[in-house]
Amino acid sequence: MIHCHKCKTQNRADAQKCSQCGKDLLPGSGFGERASGFGCMIVLAALSIPIMYFCSQSAIAVGEGTGFSTALLILGPIFALMFLLFGLILAFRKVPMYERYQKRAERHILLDPQQALVDFTQAIANLPNKTSAIRLKLLKQRAELYTQQEMHNDAQTDYRQALTLADELYNTQPQKEKLQYLEERVNLLEKLGRQDEADLEGLNYTYLAEKALPEKKIAMGVREGIEQANTDSKRNDIHTKRKAILDRGRFKALGYCRKCKTAVELDHTLRCKVNAMHDKVKSIRFVRVEEMDRVKQEISASR
Ligand SMILES: [Zn+2]
Ligand SMILES: [Zn+2]
Repeated sequence: MIHCHKCKTQNRADAQKCSQCGKDLLPGSGFGERASGFGCMIVLAALSIPIMYFCSQSAIAVGEGTGFSTALLILGPIFALMFLLFGLILAFRKVPMYERYQKRAERHILLDPQQALVDFTQAIANLPNKTSAIRLKLLKQRAELYTQQEMHNDAQTDYRQALTLADELYNTQPQKEKLQYLEERVNLLEKLGRQDEADLEGLNYTYLAEKALPEKKIAMGVREGIEQANTDSKRNDIHTKRKAILDRGRFKALGYCRKCKTAVELDHTLRCKVNAMHDKVKSIRFVRVEEMDRVKQEISASR
C-alpha cells in the first residue's frame, strides 16, 4: 500500500498517482527533488574552486613541480563548470519511470519490504534494455529483499537471472569492464550455493585482477608513494581472497617453475611452493585436487 501524503488515501502498491487527489506518488520528478539536486550541485561547484586552490598550494608546499600545481589550479573552474552542468541536467531531465520506481523501492526497503518488492518489480518491468548493468543491480536488490522475507525460491530465480545477465555483460563489454562482471559472477554463484564453480571462477578472477594492477616500481615522490601503497593494498586483498579459496582445499594453483624446471604447486601469491624465492613461474593453471597429477604432467610436457 502506498500512502498519499496530501490526502492520506491508501493507494495500490504499484500506483503512480493518488486515486483520490491525483498527486504524483513516485519520487524523482517533483519541484522539491529537482531544486535540492540543483542546490547540492551549486554548492559543490562553489566549493571546488577554493578546494582545488588549496590542493595546488599544498602541492607546492610538499615540493611538487609547478606544472602539477598549476594543473590542480586549472581543475578548480573545470570541476565547477561540470557540477553546474550536472546540476542543470538534474533539474531539467525527464526521470525515467524505472528510476522513479527504483527510488520508491529503496525508500521502502526497511519501512515496508512488501511495498519495496512491488516497486522493484515495476522498476524491472519498466527497464528499456534487456541487458544492462542496471537490470543486474535491480535483480540483486530484489533477490536480497526476497531472501530477507524468507522467499528463497523467488530469490534464487532472481539470482539465476542475474547470473545469466552477468555472463552476457561479461561477453559483450570491453576488456577493462570485464573484470567487474567476473567478480559479479563469483558472488552470484556463491548466492546460488554453487561453491565449487564460485571458487574456480574466484581463482580466475584473482589472476586477472592481479594482472591488471600496475607493475611494481620503486617509489619516488609523494604521489608515486601513495599510488604504490594503493596498489600494494589491492594486491594484498587479492592474495587474501586467493588464500581463502586455496585453504578450502578443493582447488590447487599449479605452474611451471623455471628454477625447479618442473611443474609445481603454487602458494597464494603464485610463487613456487618448493621455495618461496622461486618467483619465475609460467603456465599458471587452477585445477581441482583430483586433476592435479594429470595437469602437472601436461604442464611439464608442454615445456
Ligand atoms: Zn491523494
Ligand atoms: Zn621452484
